[in-house]
Amino acid sequence: MKIKKGDQVKMLSGKDKNKEGKVLNVLPSTNKIVVEGLNLLKKHQRAKKQGEKGQVVEVPRAVAAAKTMLICSACNKPTRVGFRSNEAGRKVRICKKCNQEN
Ligand SMILES: [Zn+2]
Repeated sequence: MKIKKGDQVKMLSGKDKNKEGKVLNVLPSTNKIVVEGLNLLKKHQRAKKQGEKGQVVEVPRAVAAAKTMLICSACNKPTRVGFRSNEAGRKVRICKKCNQEN
């Protein structure tokens, strides 16, 4: 996965197109991510106890990672990412715009 938890991403399509949010969760098996405040689904929660009111809560639903673009933390632009090995031989993610490790 190119996108990690905690990343800032921008939606490229759908009803939340061009909106940005923080990645809360990554689901590698389905190539999906959950982004804070995006692709919200209204969920009706029933009262669990007597006397308590049922309520509507909004929860973010997973979106396809391919429909989002990472926002580079170095240059602050939506960008594609690449990978390269650093001095220690570890694979690091880089921004294709500014070439900074990300
Ligand atoms: Zn960058």
